[in-house]
Amino acid sequence: MSNPPPDCLRCGACCFSRAERFVRVTGADWTRLGDAAERVAHFIGQGNEAFMRMTAGHCIALEVRPGTGADEEPEYICTLYDRRPQICRDLARGSPECEGERAVKTG
Ligand code: SF4
Ligand code: SF4
Repeated sequence: MSNPPPDCLRCGACCFSRAERFVRVTGADWTRLGDAAERVAHFIGQGNEAFMRMTAGHCIALEVRPGTGADEEPEYICTLYDRRPQICRDLARGSPECEGERAVKTG
């Protein structure tokens, strides 16, 4: 784990989880997602809480692109960056939450 953290494109740790209820989607988030909402988010349980769908251990909106640079490290791209949920907006790179995500997931 490096400190300070890398460019988010070279990390993506906070977009990974096996938990279905990982990325909360509020009503405002759902509205912001627009025509993508039904595809990328869903209601779980009693039906009154929505979350981003998870696939292959990460948020469905994350695209892991094989590296093309000299180091061939993959890139982690949020395909809905401008429309991402508030919880993603609030997790600032270099914040304690970011460091926690990286400590748990990147070893
Ligand atoms: S906010 Fe932190 S954990 Fe999330 S992608 Fe950026 S560096 Fe990684
Ligand atoms: S919406 Fe984007 S930033 Fe938020 S968890 Fe999914 S891929 Fe990551």
